[in-house]
Amino acid sequence: MLSEPQKILKRFFGYEQFRPMQQDVVQAAVSGRDVLVLMPTGGGKSICYQVPALCLPGLTVVVSPLIALMQDQVEALKRNGISAAFLNSSQDWQEQAAIERQCLNGELKLIYVSPEKLLTDNFQYILSKAQISLFAIDEAHCISFWGHDFRLEYTQLGKIKELFPHVPLMALTATADKLTRQDILQQLRLEQPEVFVASFDRPNLSLTVHPAQERIKRILEFLEDHPFEAGIIYCLSRKACEQVAARLTAAGYKAGYYHAALSHQQRSHTQDAFLKDDIQIVCATVAFGMGIDKSNVRWVIHYNLPKNIESYYQEIGRAGRDGLAADTLLFYSFADVMKQRSMLEELPDQRRELQEAKLERLQQYAEAHICRRKVLLAYFGEVQDENCGNCDVCRNPHQSFDGTVLAQKALSAIVRAKETLPISLLIDVLRGGDTEEVRRKGLFKIKTYGSGRDVHPLDWRNYIQQLINTGLLEIAYEQRQHLRLNENSREVLFNGKKVELYKVESPAVAGLGKPKPKAEAIGGELFNRLRKLRKQLADEQGVPPYVIFSDKTLQEMAADQPVTEDSMLQVNGVGRQKMSTYGHDFITEIMAFQKAQKGKGEKAQGATHLVSLELLQQGLSVEQIARQRGMHPTTIYSHVATLYEQNRLQSLNSYVSERELEAIGNAIYVHGIDSQLKQLFDSLHGKYPYHKIRLAIAFYKKKGMKV
Ligand code: ADP
Ligand code: ZN
Repeated sequence: MLSEPQKILKRFFGYEQFRPMQQDVVQAAVSGRDVLVLMPTGGGKSICYQVPALCLPGLTVVVSPLIALMQDQVEALKRNGISAAFLNSSQDWQEQAAIERQCLNGELKLIYVSPEKLLTDNFQYILSKAQISLFAIDEAHCISFWGHDFRLEYTQLGKIKELFPHVPLMALTATADKLTRQDILQQLRLEQPEVFVASFDRPNLSLTVHPAQERIKRILEFLEDHPFEAGIIYCLSRKACEQVAARLTAAGYKAGYYHAALSHQQRSHTQDAFLKDDIQIVCATVAFGMGIDKSNVRWVIHYNLPKNIESYYQEIGRAGRDGLAADTLLFYSFADVMKQRSMLEELPDQRRELQEAKLERLQQYAEAHICRRKVLLAYFGEVQDENCGNCDVCRNPHQSFDGTVLAQKALSAIVRAKETLPISLLIDVLRGGDTEEVRRKGLFKIKTYGSGRDVHPLDWRNYIQQLINTGLLEIAYEQRQHLRLNENSREVLFNGKKVELYKVESPAVAGLGKPKPKAEAIGGELFNRLRKLRKQLADEQGVPPYVIFSDKTLQEMAADQPVTEDSMLQVNGVGRQKMSTYGHDFITEIMAFQKAQKGKGEKAQGATHLVSLELLQQGLSVEQIARQRGMHPTTIYSHVATLYEQNRLQSLNSYVSERELEAIGNAIYVHGIDSQLKQLFDSLHGKYPYHKIRLAIAFYKKKGMKV
């Protein structure tokens, strides 16, 4: 039997299964425990409190810092047939009063409020009269001074426990650092909390880091590989946002920009256009995205370096929330490191040191010569043994060489110039450059002048950075960033200590994250038809397309081609409410497509199962194929079933056991081989997953069972 929460998940959200950890969190909350949930962006935090809200009697209060996010979530909940509302400063008092009345009358399951609103006397009064079953604090790291997003209003939230000691409280965040975690527990006064830390791995995100050279050219190349796919380009300055957007617009792309200096109206116009797929690209400062739930962001580019790994991970995490493959690209330059450092200067000492250390960790990530995902996950405290295969280092392993002589040339020039050279000037000296500064300082006189002429200046920059990162050289930040030697450098210079350097890849060789067979996974004629239908319905209703169905749901529809209500309900992301609102439109479209295909004399089934066959023959598991193709494992299992029926696969042994076949066979015998999967599933009390039932049907069909 399905548990109550699972039924709710299927019925309202249309999802077959909880993601790892969601179920445990839900159980804990339903049983009245306080919980802290750490999950990466896109990991599925909302379900953690939305499902308990529906299991429990009474009202769940969700505290969220961002108005846009609240609106989005409430909109999505309503579309799934759940009574929810939000209260914030964007509403007039009549609106607010009406919603407050709904709270008191028990008409709502979820109410989203800003932290300011929560603590007003008026709302406290409402809460004291309403039946509250759960408090959920989203973005809970905002409470911590040590976090990267401190908000003063959040520090008041400690009062919740004082006022409602018996109501369970759930804090959620995507920030893992230990100090912040402690702070959340203490300040919110969680009682014997259960702490859940989900894996921070997001294997569907490809990771690529590039030196920040010829960025626009690289971006244009990147965009050629991502036609029509929505993405965000993060820039450090407002000016950069506007300039990059202008360049892309000039190149024929639909691009907008977004930053804090624009009027509220301009910003919401851009955001809206992006959400509705009217523009493809937004060039934005970090002001953009916090409140964006858009599930079909297919890529994120960092035009500039972010301030630390948490921010970076949160920002790239906005891509591929639907679980389908998505690409990320970070442009890395030393100039950006300096900029980020200078932005920290104003901070009090203790905080500055912490933030500087965090920036350094990001630098190490960008300069890594091992699998980047390993570095990232290590930062979040996870050890990954295998290389990920989906980052630029895995795709093009960096080659090391004996760099002792190069290092000695650089170090010796620094000594001879009496440690007065910043990086760019050192490169001039090594390359024998004839610049004004070189002449003025008489640098052409030193012995190593011009000794590194054969190395490209950009490569020099990279090697020098490698020396800094491996501790063979230092930057005197307090001395206008002059380079200076340390003990290790002296070992190299005077004792011949060997130095290992990594070759600089030319960007053309390094490739821009295209190795996945993504075009095959996302796309196809039917998918495009369904996407057009989605856009049309969305425009009619004035909502973003992904609010209707995610890319992933459309993709599953395109693969399974459901034409009955029951089979449509089996598609992940189709709950009952959405079935009744949109299901028939999509069924009609699928049928029209099938008819057109028949007309063309082609098989409507398509050859997607043959692609799976090829991958099976290469030795990939169903899970791996699903991941690689960005499909649900159930879909791949249905390919397996088809392949078996078509005699292309000889055995189902490795997918379903004799005993299972027998049990499912009995149900098939009773209900008939042509009955709906769902009917068989229910008659077996949910004991066997859908895919096994599908496989069993294939098995008995081939055996010639006719009932
Ligand atoms: P977060 O708040 O952690 O960034 P969300 O709650 O917005 O993430 O969820 C990210 C995406 O994952 C959403 O599109 C959501 O619908 C989807 N999702 C969440 N849980 C599941 C599930 N159990 N099965 C399928 N999709 C899910
Ligand atoms: Zn890797």
